[in-house]
Amino acid sequence: MSKLNFIDGQWVAGGTERPNINPSDINDVIDNYAEGSASDVDPAVDAAAQALAPWQALGIQARSDILDQIGNRVLADKQALGRLLAREEGKTLPEAIGEVHRAGSIFKFFAAEVLRQRGELLESVRPGLDVSVTREPLGPVGIITPWNFPIAIPAWKIAPALAYGNTVVFKPAELAPGCAHALIEIIAQCGVPAGAVNLVMGAGSTVGDRLVKHPDIRGISFTGSVATGSAIAASAASRLAKVQLEMGGKNPLVVLDDADLETAVDCAINGAFFSTGQRCTASSRIIVTPEIHDRFVEQLQHKMAALVVDNALKEGTHIGPVVDDRQLAQDLDYIAVGQSEGATLLTGGEQLERQTAGYYLSPALFVDTDNHMRINREEIFGPVASVIKVADYDEALAVANDTDFGLSAGIVTRSLKYASDFKARSQAGMVMVNVPTAGVDYHVPFGGTKGSSYGSREQGSYAREFYTTVKTAYTFAG
Ligand code: ADP
Repeated sequence: MSKLNFIDGQWVAGGTERPNINPSDINDVIDNYAEGSASDVDPAVDAAAQALAPWQALGIQARSDILDQIGNRVLADKQALGRLLAREEGKTLPEAIGEVHRAGSIFKFFAAEVLRQRGELLESVRPGLDVSVTREPLGPVGIITPWNFPIAIPAWKIAPALAYGNTVVFKPAELAPGCAHALIEIIAQCGVPAGAVNLVMGAGSTVGDRLVKHPDIRGISFTGSVATGSAIAASAASRLAKVQLEMGGKNPLVVLDDADLETAVDCAINGAFFSTGQRCTASSRIIVTPEIHDRFVEQLQHKMAALVVDNALKEGTHIGPVVDDRQLAQDLDYIAVGQSEGATLLTGGEQLERQTAGYYLSPALFVDTDNHMRINREEIFGPVASVIKVADYDEALAVANDTDFGLSAGIVTRSLKYASDFKARSQAGMVMVNVPTAGVDYHVPFGGTKGSSYGSREQGSYAREFYTTVKTAYTFAG
């Protein structure tokens, strides 16, 4: 049975369907998913506009209870949802279950946030008046997500949208619609009024484009590539809609001479290669000072040799497959680019065959690289990392900041002085000291600077900034 779109409380077919293929086993078709067209977006937006009043009329207790129930259902189903996630996206089963857990926790966080909506009451500068400042929902919002976190990213956009009183039209990534669909199935069973949450699966160039351009969509929250994000921002600006973008990264991990070697290697392995390197917070540039350089590289190579690349659902797998043939081709292309630029491919970067046919790639490590090479400037989005040797901390900081991106930046050091300086002078939106660049809490802001993010922060109570607009009211008591 194929999986349908969800519009105005009804499950409806799209014009066509698209198979959802397991990247660990390309003969395994998970299911066929509706492929909507631009014309499916209009009824979804109309339904979202109609549902604004009933959703808000429920009141904060009922809205909080609904979000809490969604969170509980996601947590209760985390084994099955995690399996679906690992099967459709290719991250390992423990990683996938962890992501589902995070999604459930996010809904529960925003369930409580519903009850914390507050305004301000101020005295006016004019005698006899007072002034209140309150927050109101934006209206129907469009949510466009990528394939790499197919349940956590939808959760961290849909939960705050609903918590602050908005309604939603959601377009997930073409490559991983399974978790999106499963999440909407749960939401549909938890008492959300018809039309408050709509799912339209389909292509970015049709469904996504129409959603961005629809005049009744008042805000667009997008995570994906820089090229698509920039085009969405330009389009949204031309009709004065609010926009929030999370895009790429080229995240540095600085390893200083005084680092604990094991911590440094573990941060590099986790940050660069877990989730197959397919995270916008992945550490792709490992910047290392001279005294620890050789020991670090040797130990990193040694630990990389023990990483098991295999089917995401198989016990003992550390690294699952790359998500599809296009991404695999891109990874292999960058590996060739690095070699042609003069970097030394120390280990990995080879396509692997496993029991099931999939897009397996051994984690790749370049050494002898410099920060001007394309492999150190462009986001690869695969299990590929470079080591950049620098003279000292000052050069490490300069190289870390010398990038078009600014999402996450890490440092491994025992020095309070360098750690504090790095926190202050790193140009990234998130700084990690002695922990991997990837892996963040769900209750605090997420986002970056420069080409990584645009608009206000996501997650935690900072999400309110995007999903609400401010009203200032003056009252004269008379
Ligand atoms: P990726 O390289 O991760 O696929 P994209 O930016 O292409 O990154 O895709 C991220 C999301 O944006 C996906 O859901 C995709 O369908 C959607 N998308 C792609 N092109 C457009 C577009 N022109 N307008 C709106 N959404 C789009």
